[in-house]
Amino acid sequence: MSDAERVNGAGYVTVRVPAKVNVQLSVGGLRADGFHGLANVFLAVGLHDEVTASPADGLQLTAEGADASQVPLDESNLAARAARLLARRHGRTPGVRLHIAKDIPVAGGMAGGSADAAGALLACDTLWGTRTPREELLAMCAELGSDVPFSLVGGAALGRGRGELLTPLETGGTFHWVFAVADGGLSTPAVYRECDRLREAEGGGATVETVPEPEASEDLLAALRSGDARALAGALSNDLQAAAVSLRPSLADTLKTGEAAGALAALVSGSGPTCAFLTGDAGSARDVAAALQASGHCRTARTTTGPAPGATVVRTG
Ligand code: ATP
Repeated sequence: MSDAERVNGAGYVTVRVPAKVNVQLSVGGLRADGFHGLANVFLAVGLHDEVTASPADGLQLTAEGADASQVPLDESNLAARAARLLARRHGRTPGVRLHIAKDIPVAGGMAGGSADAAGALLACDTLWGTRTPREELLAMCAELGSDVPFSLVGGAALGRGRGELLTPLETGGTFHWVFAVADGGLSTPAVYRECDRLREAEGGGATVETVPEPEASEDLLAALRSGDARALAGALSNDLQAAAVSLRPSLADTLKTGEAAGALAALVSGSGPTCAFLTGDAGSARDVAAALQASGHCRTARTTTGPAPGATVVRTG
């Protein structure tokens, strides 16, 4: 029997999965294994990719959306790797057509590839009826990449280790954000290397011997709990920001433009180059987005809110 016939008549499953912004990204020293310890506070926001899984005999992959041409459609695609991993776990062939409707900027520091991996896992698990326990799905997510477990879970969470050891966090309200999407991406490993280089150049060293163990900020966690945007604005931090700006100096102008237009705070999202602006309300978010758009300092400016739910099945047929 082919995989196409094995799916109990399910035609397709569509999963919506959110982008993230790191409201705190504290980077520890370079470890012997080449990774950095992190204190990483993730907030899921309402920019989404949708991953649709439908029956096929082999693994097929397609993508649509403004950035679709930058999405690799080969073995390296994280959604394809997720489907293969799940199939292997259940001793079946990865018979599935995966279609990614891409709205999260590619290589933008918003975990778009991780989102697609979590989306593909949930879509395939639903399509194939494999009913993988949640804990096992989370372990597979961590195997696929440090940011993938959070894409499954959504909301707000503290990530330790490489970011994959998650503790869900309470949030007391909705935060209004603007994201300035840049032309072209930044490579996450290159931004970490630049962070290490800058630390060395400043004379402090870049290894675990010299850089303090990163800790979550109590002020930040309290601001998330209270839902107070001003308090959150005062507590935002990103240790990769200087490195991203060093590699892409024009980001400094983008950050200044959003602040001048009334954002409560501006920061680079993750490893960039997307810039994130926290605003007090939806009206202020629209003003900041209009100013960014008019400035020409970004490809496009998007308004949205967070927290947003994690990967969710939104359609089946
Ligand atoms: P993060 O914030 O997790 O560091 P990012 O948002 O900066 O990641 P991604 O959009 O995840 O970056 O893309 C990083 C690279 O991953 C891309 O340049 C691309 O080559 C590769 N990639 C693999 N699978 C995907 C996918 N499904 N969508 C986008 N990029 C993918």
